[in-house]
Amino acid sequence: MAAQIINGKEISKKIRSEIAKEVDELKKLNVIPGLAVILVGNNQASRTYVKSKQKACQELGMHSLLFEYPETIEESELLNKIEELNHDDTIHGILVQLPLPEHINEVKVIEAISPDKDVDGFHPINIGRMMTGQDAFLPCTPYGIMVLLKEMGIDAAGKNVVVIGRSNIVGKPSGQLFLNENATVTYCHSKTKDLKAHTKKADILVSAVGKANFITADFIKEGAVVIDVGINRNEDGKLCGDVAFEEAKEIAGYITPVPGGVGPMTITMLMYNTLKAAKKFQPALQKTK
Ligand code: NAD
Repeated sequence: MAAQIINGKEISKKIRSEIAKEVDELKKLNVIPGLAVILVGNNQASRTYVKSKQKACQELGMHSLLFEYPETIEESELLNKIEELNHDDTIHGILVQLPLPEHINEVKVIEAISPDKDVDGFHPINIGRMMTGQDAFLPCTPYGIMVLLKEMGIDAAGKNVVVIGRSNIVGKPSGQLFLNENATVTYCHSKTKDLKAHTKKADILVSAVGKANFITADFIKEGAVVIDVGINRNEDGKLCGDVAFEEAKEIAGYITPVPGGVGPMTITMLMYNTLKAAKKFQPALQKTK
């Protein structure tokens, strides 16, 4: 039987309408959730992502600011801007679009963002909070995956979850969130031996590799939930994930398509985190920093 398609576009739409309602409520208290985005250089993909984030802010009635800098910007100038935004009461979330040019220390930049405004969930304080199961800003793509499963009524507790990929922004935090939900988690990566032996045992398989047609049907356990995080182009230049969708959907129980699966959830969870930051915002506390 063909898999049930997890429609990220629809789920995202539903969550965004809930966010929009909460934004309206906050506005009655004179708080407009504000997101500042910092974009360095001329990376076209980064530019496209930033545009989508700004558009989402506008659609949800949030305040958004974009700060664009040339590739040659000094690290100190970037750090000064972040410091200024940390103290700006109209801004509740700060996002520095990655990657940054080589001469800028990414870790230093992320650590300069106030953990209370770190809506990407990349600051070590938020990562530590996530790992210890405390309230935190969760990284948007992994968070989006968890929300997709929740909306589909899929419980991860006790399930074998295999995450392929160990990046700081997708692979590692995805595994951690599944662990927080009481799943048994296996991480696979470029040095993993006999990948298929692991993936065939997965009740939930998450692929975050970045290679088109990397996961074929023979890697998938019958009835498994397949979450495709990859964003790639196939030979025809069409957008596709890591999973060979047409054959995988014949064996999986549930599957996310690309486009229209995990992708729309990433920006939605960024909006959610910005709303959350605005709700928690206490100007007096910020000013004492
Ligand atoms: P990355 O390049 O940092 O990580 C890729 C991971 O794949 C690495 O950890 C590596 O060990 C693993 N890998 C590479 N070859 C492998 C192999 N042969 N076998 C097993 N593992 C292997 O990438 P990333 O930033 O984690 O992103 C992964 C993919 O997800 C990319 O396609 C990216 O575009 C996409 N992505 C999508 C979203 C979204 O919103 N949907 C968000 C972020 C990233």
